[in-house]
Amino acid sequence: MYDIIIIGGGCAGLTAGIYAKEANKSVLILEKMGAGGQLNNIFNVTNYPGFESVNGYELAEKMHLQATRLGAEIKNEEVTQVDFSKDIKIVKTNYNEYMSKNVIIATGASARKLNVYDEENFYGRGLSYCATCDGNLFKNKTVAVVGGGNTSIDDCLYLSNIAKKIYLIHRREVFTANEKELNKVKALGKNDGVVEIKSNMIVTKLFGDNVLKQIELTNTKTNTKETIDVDGLFVAIGRKPDTELFEGMLEFTNEGFIKTNENMETSINGVYAVGDVRNTNLRQIITACADGAIAVSNIVKKK
Ligand code: NAP
Repeated sequence: MYDIIIIGGGCAGLTAGIYAKEANKSVLILEKMGAGGQLNNIFNVTNYPGFESVNGYELAEKMHLQATRLGAEIKNEEVTQVDFSKDIKIVKTNYNEYMSKNVIIATGASARKLNVYDEENFYGRGLSYCATCDGNLFKNKTVAVVGGGNTSIDDCLYLSNIAKKIYLIHRREVFTANEKELNKVKALGKNDGVVEIKSNMIVTKLFGDNVLKQIELTNTKTNTKETIDVDGLFVAIGRKPDTELFEGMLEFTNEGFIKTNENMETSINGVYAVGDVRNTNLRQIITACADGAIAVSNIVKKK
């Protein structure tokens, strides 16, 4: 029996673990992959206070170390089932069953798919959802990045040191990415540079035999089509919350995020949600960390 069980070891879950140990609580963090979650996929974080520029993986490592040194138990186990129907909550994994009165859901979000034919077949054969994981496979090659948010811009900047040519494909003209970083990408596009921006375009077809060779783009305004040769395609069109385990148990927003109040409490007493998985106005490292801290301080106050 733990004081707190945390499902997910990204920055929200790790911060909750740190705060739980600071408050002298027994805490178990269950993480199906490596600790750090989505943070591991960010090449360069420039807006986390105290770090002018830090690699996401390094920042995650620091949080992980801090949590374990304080005594948080972190297990690499995938949660397969939860029972939140009683005061004592049960969390089952592929190996074990754990119990606690307090569960913090910090499962984050995963990559949104393009939803085009054969997308699954080309995954790992030229198509990737993580530029920092797979970018090195495309040294001096031609790649395309899809998206108009911060991730797509980060990906372009990262890939510009590796690939010889990058198409940035966005379905509108206006980007939602941070202007300063976007301007760096635009500068890379000047004078036949390494980046070519293709606005008002969506990817509608993937071509190749064993590996991806070409993509078809369709103009969202004129419906005209063009095919371009690429060796790699990086999809960075946002993320969807990982909530499958909790469907039918908790209240959700229309967009599929877990509803919480300002104390991170969900519709079930003793169950909290923090980070990208919950309804929030800002999905950043700093807000995810803050969520973790708030959830734990609320648990501690309730005792
Ligand atoms: P995002 O901000 O939600 O942007 C998603 C982008 O993909 C938008 O440009 C959107 O276009 C486009 N899109 C969505 N569905 C599409 C589809 N089916 N086909 C084509 N385009 C599609 O996602 P994100 O860039 O992954 O960022 C997620 C969060 O992490 C944000 O809060 C971001 O600020 C944060 N983040 C921060 C940093 C950093 O601070 N260094 C780095 C990465 C991410 P529309 O604009 O037309 O909707």
